[in-house]
Amino acid sequence: MKDFQKLIEESLEEVRRLGIRPGNIVAWSVNKRAKTRWGLCRQNPDNTFEIQIAQRLLTDERISRQSCKETIIHEILHTCKDCMKHTGKWKHYAQVVNQVYGYNIKRVTTGSEKGVEDYDSSSSLPVKYIFTCGCCGATIYRKRESRFTKYYRQYRCTRCGAVAWEKKVV
Ligand SMILES: [Zn+2]
Ligand SMILES: [Zn+2]
Repeated sequence: MKDFQKLIEESLEEVRRLGIRPGNIVAWSVNKRAKTRWGLCRQNPDNTFEIQIAQRLLTDERISRQSCKETIIHEILHTCKDCMKHTGKWKHYAQVVNQVYGYNIKRVTTGSEKGVEDYDSSSSLPVKYIFTCGCCGATIYRKRESRFTKYYRQYRCTRCGAVAWEKKVV
């Protein structure tokens, strides 16, 4: 099991060393049930942030420390000013961090990219499609073909309302 606290400290240090200033993170937690989501960053009304990391990242020996830190830094960057979306400043910071430390931080990371299999939350069938909203970065996983997987270009994002789904076949 990886040392969560140590990974957090190292990640924060690496981000700060580049002159990037994270927001006020008041809570870090481990999600025991998360299967499709590696990390989550929530902004509170008082402008503080809470970050959740999938327990699997810490317990699965096949997932490297580096891969785990990529998720942690991905979420830390969301706490910076104007960084809740995966575009603009967040994207810029991610590129800087990737370049300096050789990370591979991006909007969506599949299980196979982390060295483990991909899972859908409802069953153990592997995820076949990953859709990402080109506007807000919302992610949808599908394991079977459906109207949505075929005609996704006509569907609106439920989070931001944009018609901008990008499809990736896993
Ligand atoms: Zn994100
Ligand atoms: Zn969206």
